Amino acid sequence: MIKTSLKSKMNEDICMVAYPENHGFTYMFDCGVASLLTISDILKLRAVFVTHTHIDHFINFDSIIRHRAGSRNPLTITGPVGIAKNVYSKLLGFTWNLIGKSANCFEIREIIDDETFHIYKIYPPLWKLKNPIVVKSKTLLEQDNIFVNYKVLDHKIPSIAYKLCENDKINISGFPYKGGPWIAKLKEMYLDKVSGQLEVDNKMVSTDELYSYLVTSSGFQVGWAMDHLGTEPNHKLLSELFNEIDILYIEAFFREIDKDYAFKHHHSTSKRSGYLARIAKVKKLKLVHHSRRYLSEIFDVIEEGRAEFEGREPNFSKETIAKYISKE
Ligand SMILES: [Zn+2]
Ligand SMILES: [Zn+2]
Repeated sequence: MIKTSLKSKMNEDICMVAYPENHGFTYMFDCGVASLLTISDILKLRAVFVTHTHIDHFINFDSIIRHRAGSRNPLTITGPVGIAKNVYSKLLGFTWNLIGKSANCFEIREIIDDETFHIYKIYPPLWKLKNPIVVKSKTLLEQDNIFVNYKVLDHKIPSIAYKLCENDKINISGFPYKGGPWIAKLKEMYLDKVSGQLEVDNKMVSTDELYSYLVTSSGFQVGWAMDHLGTEPNHKLLSELFNEIDILYIEAFFREIDKDYAFKHHHSTSKRSGYLARIAKVKKLKLVHHSRRYLSEIFDVIEEGRAEFEGREPNFSKETIAKYISKE
């Protein structure tokens, strides 16, 4: 299980923190103004996943710097092409003569395409960006029992969609033997797809027999996709990434009636995010990140996407009126 909690209120930017169970770290998604974010949240972070650096997704990065620049625990920041320069430039906004070279380093993972990213490690006091390691992988980060996948979306600029996953779990069902340390070895052999014999209850038993008592269950999966153009190419990428995931947080910045304006700014609409979640067979949908112009009708903004997700007619509380008139 991975618990999730939005740290931004409805009238603020966007920021969420994920708390995987039986795991020593937490994970932040986007970095906008978020008055529910605590220092304790920031201190436990292993990584900050930034979709893109429009100001409503990155303005609060100063709080991360404030509470983590002197800490001994390294922090990874990921984002699209340009994120390394964005982080570096933020750090240059402060004076660092009081911090030792041995203090915390920030690691930046800059995503180039759907299977390539660059890793920079930067240290005080100069935080220089040099000699990145080039990694070819669809897995952006692995830490203990979790891993993260990603896709690059079109938002006129790149905007990254992330999926935070727990490893699949192996449980034992109807076992006729006593438990013991050999169970860990059995699971390891099972994952490595090797066969052999193990000593169980003072006798040798074939692993093939023991494997018949193992049941694999999928780990929990959390999706995060903010600003993106709500059309087929992005939907294809997203439905592949988010296929049957447990919970999806996705933008609902505009309503369908303002679709032309939304598309002009390479955004989606609440209805289209609901559609995407339906075709991806997402289990639970969270429509977030709304334009402030809709604050008085936020129920209807969410209802629009939720109805599309559930394949029913929307039940609006007010008349639907366009809030944006495109001048072109
Ligand atoms: Zn944006
Ligand atoms: Zn945004």
